Amino acid sequence: MYEDVPGTLSAPIAVGRGAQHATNIEHVIQALAFHGPCSQATVSRTVGLSRPSVHSIIHELEAAGKVEILPGPNRRDCAVRLVANTGRYIALDLGHELVRGMFVDLERKVSYRLAESITGSHHHTGDLAAIGKVVDGLCALSGVSLGDMTSIAVTLHAPIDWAGIVSPSTIMPNWTGLVPTEVISSYLGKDVVVENDANAAAIAEWAWGAGRGSKCFMYVKTSQGVGAGIVMSGSVMRGATGVAGEIGHIVVEPHGPLCNCGNRGCLSAVASGQALLAQFDRINDAPESLHDLVDQALADNPVASRVITEAGHHLGTVLAHVIAILGPDRVAIGGELARAGKLHLDAVKSTVIERIVHTISTGTILVHGSIDDSPSLMGGLLLAMRADGQAMSVIPDWILQQS
Ligand SMILES: [Zn+2]
Repeated sequence: MYEDVPGTLSAPIAVGRGAQHATNIEHVIQALAFHGPCSQATVSRTVGLSRPSVHSIIHELEAAGKVEILPGPNRRDCAVRLVANTGRYIALDLGHELVRGMFVDLERKVSYRLAESITGSHHHTGDLAAIGKVVDGLCALSGVSLGDMTSIAVTLHAPIDWAGIVSPSTIMPNWTGLVPTEVISSYLGKDVVVENDANAAAIAEWAWGAGRGSKCFMYVKTSQGVGAGIVMSGSVMRGATGVAGEIGHIVVEPHGPLCNCGNRGCLSAVASGQALLAQFDRINDAPESLHDLVDQALADNPVASRVITEAGHHLGTVLAHVIAILGPDRVAIGGELARAGKLHLDAVKSTVIERIVHTISTGTILVHGSIDDSPSLMGGLLLAMRADGQAMSVIPDWILQQS
């Protein structure tokens, strides 16, 4: 399957120097990104180059500090992984009520996190002010000026179309029609890379988590909103409109509750965190937050369990259609609702199995996301690194362990 994706690893490969050699190096890097830590034999089979050629390229990449050869019986049989040892990056995640930020210095191996509540969120300037505070705070903590940051990535909880314009969304209506790359770069006085939060989480899970080795991977984020990102051979699939994967407004109950988009019974209107909490209007001891709701479900509260199970069935209805059309080999569910564990995932799975033919459902594995620590922020880090031409096969512990 991997070979039939044009423009990636399917190109004919011949050993040579100059442009062809650069292409071969790029293919080896792509293969290492796809597999994660793996043997040179695996790289050789993947890219169709001879083992001596791969060995020579790995040696070149090792000398450049781009790969690390892990200890093993001999150099050719032991695992190789992508590493990055330089660069100072900031990843920011702009949500509905909070901006979270992470600074990572790969040379000094230090990482800092900060978060800032958003006030005046009815206008995007409130969001910008919070972004500014987080960036200033991270610069102060790290002792690195903004100008000396290698690159900055911002993830947004809103769909971004092919032209870079924010499409109408439930979570961040105050950004609709804006070009966040321009708005945020102008505000900070430094270029930023911008990505939708679910796409960023999908690319992080593909590179470092539940999507590793997947040829067609889908990540579904189930938090205040519901969104998804699709990764084909290491690249986010956007479609012609740029907003492929925006599953939140697929209608699952035509006579269901109203949605902000003007339809009734969209997935977002029945299965997002906002929608689930709204169902508690007439219930005693309503949960105060989505986190609280999941905690109640984990404690076997029957109302909370019911609500989360139903949300899983609704998501399963949508995924059955998406899986039939897209044919992903893996779908990972992440976000706050995934914390409910089997309760939610089993409901998703049972509906998917019920609604699509056996041959399709058995070709797709449904799992939980495996990056528990802010997958959107990790995706932002990955994108900031990519903007600098860097990649790594594993998130170092010293980044994950920061609180
Ligand atoms: Zn809708």
